[in-house]
Amino acid sequence: MYNIMSPKAEEFISDEEIRRCLAYAEENKNNREVIDRILEEARKMKGISHQDALVLLDCELEDKNEEIYQLARDIKQEFYGNRIVMFAPLYLSNYCINGCEYCPYHARNRQIPRKKLTQEEIRQEVIALQDMGHKRLALEAGEDPINNPLEYILESIKTIYSIQHKNGAIRRVNVNIAATTVENYRKLKEAGIGTYILFQETYNKESYEQLHPSGPKSDYAYHTEAMDRAMDGGIDDVGLGVLFGLNNYRYDFTGIIMHAEHLEAYKGVGPHTISVPRLRRADDIDPDVFDNGISDDMFAKIVACIRIAVPYTGMIVSTRESPKSRERVLNLGISQISGGSRTSVGGYTTEERPEDTTQFEVDDRRTLDEVVNWLMKLGYVPSFCTACYREGRTGDRFMSLLKSKQIVNCCHPNALMTLKEYLEDYASPETREIGEALIQKELQTIPNPVVRKKAGEYIDNIHEGKRDFRF
Ligand code: SAM
Repeated sequence: MYNIMSPKAEEFISDEEIRRCLAYAEENKNNREVIDRILEEARKMKGISHQDALVLLDCELEDKNEEIYQLARDIKQEFYGNRIVMFAPLYLSNYCINGCEYCPYHARNRQIPRKKLTQEEIRQEVIALQDMGHKRLALEAGEDPINNPLEYILESIKTIYSIQHKNGAIRRVNVNIAATTVENYRKLKEAGIGTYILFQETYNKESYEQLHPSGPKSDYAYHTEAMDRAMDGGIDDVGLGVLFGLNNYRYDFTGIIMHAEHLEAYKGVGPHTISVPRLRRADDIDPDVFDNGISDDMFAKIVACIRIAVPYTGMIVSTRESPKSRERVLNLGISQISGGSRTSVGGYTTEERPEDTTQFEVDDRRTLDEVVNWLMKLGYVPSFCTACYREGRTGDRFMSLLKSKQIVNCCHPNALMTLKEYLEDYASPETREIGEALIQKELQTIPNPVVRKKAGEYIDNIHEGKRDFRF
């Protein structure tokens, strides 16, 4: 029985409710009257239900699809402007006791070299990331209570925050580790993590159980209820995701919107981010085996419809996607991207054969400087901002800032100041030249004259060597 307020996975992600929506959308996908009603509701920019979002996703009417894409662009612009936040993943360990069929770190894989970074190796990796210009990391690790216990993750976070190297600093550490207990989430919160990220992989219980035949991750309910426990442990920024390609995309699209609705209704805060990873080739993994791959067109439509359904959420696209595919979804709703990523343990410092421990092949192999340069040429402002997290604007406080539309006087100057730091400390001459002109142009778009003036002064201060200003 579907119950958005239930603590039970099978009730807030009800299979019966999803199947009802799948049938409703199939019936109404080309019904102009229904679609116009949904679009009218969506134009209020307050989100739409999982059922209505699926109708838009399924819609095949060309003119209506144009309206859907345009609305997604408008919502992206309204809530997130032209800023794109930059981050990089950091793989700590690929020891894992789970049996995930799509991930080469699964326990049965005896050919992949297993590696866990020491605190000194973490220090070297982080210095390499700081030297690229990164300020925000997503920690990644397999699940292995003996090799990677929570204490190891906590110690690693402490190490990362403590590293002072030139002007570099990691100011926000997000964490993508296996589902755990309320007590452990509390410890992660105390360690100062930003977002707790956990991908659902698929919301279909039956497929989930087939894809996770062994290990602690095989427990569908424990995994699906993890975000509720994270919030009970005090973490109010959580990041959802589905691994597209594993299961029917319509089912999982509906599931992820229902999960967002559940968090907002039951915990008072929706997801801070939604990620849209697509399955990639990897060591002993052939993505074609899963038979649920989605086209680039459908991928773009999914991004647009998530943007419309959950307007306030940050949306992340990683280097799993090619530059072309990333470019296409940027203005449809993406607010964060990774750059210069390595998906191997020790990949930022190992020159030789880093692919040995790679989790999956990346499709965007450009350096961070190349990605920043490319974004600016496309008219985006790459941002290294971490101000909200550091000012305690997390959870509902961040959401109310977004909903109040005050971000133009807050996020925009913060983005420009952190971009200025990047240009001063790490950019190539060409990137710097493009960036300086962009900053001058974008400063003029800050509506509040006091903030505009102050931001200009801070930017001059940064040029003189000062760092870390924020609104
Ligand atoms: N071990 C943790 C877990 O299982 O949730 C989190 C870390 S795991 C390194 C991060 C994510 O990578 C997984 O949640 C999965 O969605 C994704 N992933 C695994 N194998 C992949 C593949 N072959 N292609 C693309 N993404 C993959």
